[in-house]
Amino acid sequence: MRVRFAPSPTGKLHVGGLRTALFNYLAARQTKGQFILRIEDTDQNRQVTGAVQNLIESLHWAGLDYDEGPERGGDFGPYFQSERLDIYHRHIDQLVAEDHAYYCFCSSERLEEVRQTQIAAKRQPGYDGHCRHIPKAEAARRAKSEPHVVRMKIPETGELKFSDRVRGNISYPLNQMDDQVLLKTDGFPTYHLANVVDDHYMQVNLVIRGEEWLPSTPKHILLYQYLGWEVPEFAHLPLLLNSDRSKLSKRQGDVAVEDYRAKGILPEALVNFVALLGWNPGDDREIFSLDELVDVFSLERVNKAGAVFNLEKLYWMNGQYIRKLEVSDYLNRANTWLAGQGHVVVSDELLLLVRDSLTTLADLPDNLEPLLAEIPVPENDEAAAMLKAESSQTVYRTAVEILDTRETLSADDFKAMMKQIQQATGVKGKNLWMPARIALTGQVHGPELPRIVEIFGKEKVRERLAAALRN
Ligand code: GLU
Repeated sequence: MRVRFAPSPTGKLHVGGLRTALFNYLAARQTKGQFILRIEDTDQNRQVTGAVQNLIESLHWAGLDYDEGPERGGDFGPYFQSERLDIYHRHIDQLVAEDHAYYCFCSSERLEEVRQTQIAAKRQPGYDGHCRHIPKAEAARRAKSEPHVVRMKIPETGELKFSDRVRGNISYPLNQMDDQVLLKTDGFPTYHLANVVDDHYMQVNLVIRGEEWLPSTPKHILLYQYLGWEVPEFAHLPLLLNSDRSKLSKRQGDVAVEDYRAKGILPEALVNFVALLGWNPGDDREIFSLDELVDVFSLERVNKAGAVFNLEKLYWMNGQYIRKLEVSDYLNRANTWLAGQGHVVVSDELLLLVRDSLTTLADLPDNLEPLLAEIPVPENDEAAAMLKAESSQTVYRTAVEILDTRETLSADDFKAMMKQIQQATGVKGKNLWMPARIALTGQVHGPELPRIVEIFGKEKVRERLAAALRN
């Protein structure tokens, strides 16, 4: 299969865009086909500086590298529609010459007037075909000097039927479709024309994209027919929804891939998570690497119903991925993260110690901080109260006495010492272990105490217990 991801550079790569890119990527890899990246930048007003860079970087971060494109300084880049205007103009001329499209000279004021009249008469607003019947020679002459657009002729009656790999058989009544603008007054083609021309020349035979493009598909199919080209297959992916089932929007949380990256989400986790937005493997399995997805993914298992973007699940998955990483890989990513945030270098043993407490890489500083602090501060009132409690103070006093008789303190020594304290003071269970944890880390949860003690060593343990005693 030859498939493509065709974003418009109007902002940062959206998680929905990542899913579209992923499903295309999977379809290409499964069939040993090609995955093309095409930047649809024909709408000059909606361009955002840096958007292309962000799209490419985000795709690369997620591991979805594209396969081909024009030569750019020894490397290859994506295709840019703005570099292909000649091709579009050639086909606009062809459509006009063959009577499938026509010049339209209507001013925006006139179009607005028509719209208002239609709305007032409770009719569906749309182009009224005003310029459709201008004699061809006259229209061609006027087009030389007057501002104009080119519109495609949509048949006035009949239905357009097609089959979608996700949505099955679809039929659209043609009389509800507007004569779509194909070329704008600024000389740039619209998305519809450029998209069809490019998919043809790039030999794309399967178009996987978001459901919002479904209503445009009949127009695209007509264009393929007008131009005498083979129509590709289509697969329209379900909408992404907020948990209240409204359309996923910025207002309810982050939507850019970059935002999740900045939050310390691993690319593997985000990719795995978006794979399950609208697709399922047919059983309960949820964790898939990119390679595993290539093996098991199928468009036939993509749902029509909107897919809820469940953030909790993303975070859960991310924790799973952090724990699954090879040790060296984990250390590498943790160090890179911390360096990127301007943090001090931390020993491998501390990074490994906190690993099980992390949901995202962004949790690293908070988890490391109490271990690195001179003397940890109790994290909340409950911890502060526990530190001061009489029985806790007894525990600290006894611990310091014992430690003063020792040279070193291994994890096993520490466990033995805790038993000794229990026997000496009668304090046990949570009342014994929790004060010890708070004295050593300031926190009520965290890695296993003997592991912490092993890394700290006797002096640091004594120092912290003594500080707690003075409190
Ligand atoms: N440029 C369109 C977009 O931004 C692409 C739609 C398509 O894949 O055909 O989503």
